[in-house]
Amino acid sequence: MEDKREHQGQRHQLVKALRRKGIFDERVLAAMNRLPRHWFLEYPHSLRAYEDVPLTILAGQTISQPFTVARQSELLRVEKRQRVLEIGTGSGYQAAILAMLGARVFTVERQRELYEKTRRFLPTIGFPQIRCYHRDGTLGLPEFAPFDRILATAGAAAIPQSLVDQLAPNGILLIPVGRRQQRMIRLTKTPDGTLREEDFGAFRFVPFLPGKT
Ligand code: SAH
Repeated sequence: MEDKREHQGQRHQLVKALRRKGIFDERVLAAMNRLPRHWFLEYPHSLRAYEDVPLTILAGQTISQPFTVARQSELLRVEKRQRVLEIGTGSGYQAAILAMLGARVFTVERQRELYEKTRRFLPTIGFPQIRCYHRDGTLGLPEFAPFDRILATAGAAAIPQSLVDQLAPNGILLIPVGRRQQRMIRLTKTPDGTLREEDFGAFRFVPFLPGKT
């Protein structure tokens, strides 16, 4: 895996653009400045790695647009050593960013091909600690619950109750909700178990699908 000066320069420009678009968490921007996004993409998609666009990965899926990764990462308010569950491993890029923020990352993917590929790939670029599972994320990962943070990177028609149940007190679930277009919903569980809901606007994600393949 190489990371040429040219890539580093493009990445720096991308991060500047993200800051202009309103990303304010410097920890997130620093992680995105360090992590080569082109490593997570196949040629020729890798040529566009530093444009702020979603790109195709395996099995008809996409790696989220950098702005979306940045926004979700900052809205999740990750703190060091927190247990974070990601739904939708995909390329592994978002999982790697969460690990760089100091999270203990668990990530689930419903498509076997993607799961296998990313599970093998992440240790080769320095992320052996990210735990990958081949699961239907609708059900979460009950044997490792509770989680301080849960992040869905696919658009859900409704919020799966299992994910809410697997949130720790003071936990945060960030999930895009809606069918064709989604609203970015942040649910915060208070210590007495009640939920606070906030809406961070419109986004477009690939669908959160039931079952696994
Ligand atoms: N976080 C990924 C983005 C992947 S796109 C990245 O950084 O590259 C969303 C992913 O969610 C796809 O890989 C899709 O297969 C997966 N997905 C959709 N529904 C799912 C479900 N119920 N459980 C687990 N993964 C799911």
